[in-house]
Amino acid sequence: MLAGRASDRGRTRPHIVVLGGGFAGLNAAHALRRVDADVTLLDKNNYHTFQPLLYQVSTAYLPPEEVGSALRTIFRRQANLTVRVGELAEVSWAQRVLRCRDNSTIDFDYLILAAGAETNFFGVPGMREHAWPLYTLTDAVRLRRHLLSILERAARNVGPDGTGSGCRPIRVVVVGGGPTGVETAGALSSMAHEVVGPAARLGVTLVEAGPRLLSALSPRSSQRALIDLCHRRVDVRLNRSVKAADACGVTLSGGERIDTDTVIWAAGVQASGLSRALGLELNRRGQIVVDPQLRVPDHPGVFAAGDLAAIPDTPGGPPLPMLAPVAIQSGRHAGKQVARLIEGQPLQEFRYRDKGVMAVLGRGDAVAELPLSRRTTGRYPLQFGGFVAWLLWLVVHIAYLISFRNRLQVLIDWAWNYFTSRGTGAILFDGPDPPSCDVAADESAANASAPQPRDGSDPLRSQEPGTARIRPG
Ligand SMILES: Cc1cc2nc3c(=O)[nH]c(=O)nc-3n(C[C@H](O)[C@H](O)[C@H](O)COP(=O)(O)OP(=O)(O)OC[C@H]3O[C@@H](n4cnc5c(N)ncnc54)[C@H](O)[C@@H]3O)c2cc1C
Repeated sequence: MLAGRASDRGRTRPHIVVLGGGFAGLNAAHALRRVDADVTLLDKNNYHTFQPLLYQVSTAYLPPEEVGSALRTIFRRQANLTVRVGELAEVSWAQRVLRCRDNSTIDFDYLILAAGAETNFFGVPGMREHAWPLYTLTDAVRLRRHLLSILERAARNVGPDGTGSGCRPIRVVVVGGGPTGVETAGALSSMAHEVVGPAARLGVTLVEAGPRLLSALSPRSSQRALIDLCHRRVDVRLNRSVKAADACGVTLSGGERIDTDTVIWAAGVQASGLSRALGLELNRRGQIVVDPQLRVPDHPGVFAAGDLAAIPDTPGGPPLPMLAPVAIQSGRHAGKQVARLIEGQPLQEFRYRDKGVMAVLGRGDAVAELPLSRRTTGRYPLQFGGFVAWLLWLVVHIAYLISFRNRLQVLIDWAWNYFTSRGTGAILFDGPDPPSCDVAADESAANASAPQPRDGSDPLRSQEPGTARIRPG
């Protein structure tokens, strides 16, 4: 039935659109490589982002190009696939046409929705304007520039005798004690030393609303993470949530105030806002409800995968977590189901294969928890930590990186960092930004600008004397 529409539009074979070049979209598109159809991979960026290593970009351990891969390069050998750069704005389900923000349109016979997720500030006052999110490569590059700016500003206020206002540790607050928050806090604790040497110090506070860090892992791994971060002089605040943020600090539950102009938000994501514009059934997190075959109900030929989809692990159970392996496996499955539809074969149910969880705590140290069988989701009998877990984390991340070139470059940089503790050399283009507040640096707060969202939802403003600071681009 659906394939007939292709000829209605002057095509000789079906047209499949894969929305999103994240883990889910890439694997869906790859699964379609032998199908007799035209495949369009649509993404608002021309690159794929390896999100698990974004924190290493923001803390200047890796350059951005090593965690981003150009989509055209990834698919250069897939003859039936075209990459198209554009931001999907809406879908006409009746006409089976996608409309992008630039008003261009794309027809489709089959559609795989894999637009991922976005930062969720949970409505905390001031957070959108003043916190640094860490979800996209742009977020990571902006945060990196900000961190390098505060370090360089502090370093120039340290005298030759090692004294001066720059000697005070610069306070950085990380919100959220999940893997991203823990990994970011651990990396920040050694960033200053590796970037500017003893000339400046970062004082890192990690705030977690729950009673333990890494709540998706066992209490043993949580305890290990807590002890490790304390050894790295990270100030961990459990059972505390951030109630409000402004240009010069945050207020915690209980009323405590922490002065800082650097609040890193690692506390939550929700399904891409696009899902709310599509008129489909959504769950509480804004994810598109799908059936066990990953089909979107009442929309023949339309599938959803990855973070954007609410994929139940068991019938009627809670959705699978927003993790890379879920996105990879569900994307591949959605691609295969479209192939089966085109080839006239019956559809198959999606079965998630849980491969465990890991979090890195610092150089040479990580925690890992692995299942012993394919179907023990959420229960990990094999738990270990330390150097072996770190080696495993390293191997897994290298294996999942998209191209051989990226794997090789990241491996070289990690080996260099591990043996030299000198980082890869963090370049700060155009000198440090002026401070947004006087809590962390030498200059007065006179240059502080009106608050603007730091999640990329506003255009960057150029600096006008006395009105705005230069925001990293
Ligand atoms: C900082 C961070 C660290 C993480 N660490 C880990 C980890 O250690 N282990 C782990 O398993 N998981 C981790 N995750 C989660 C994991 O990265 C995600 O679950 C996974 O990337 C989801 O893949 P996806 O394809 O569904 O979405 P994404 O990877 O988000 O891809 C979505 C794609 O859709 C595109 N897109 C979005 N909207 C539109 C639009 N309107 N039009 C066109 N294109 C659009 C985006 O540009 C993007 O390329 C981490 C996530 C983050 C943010």
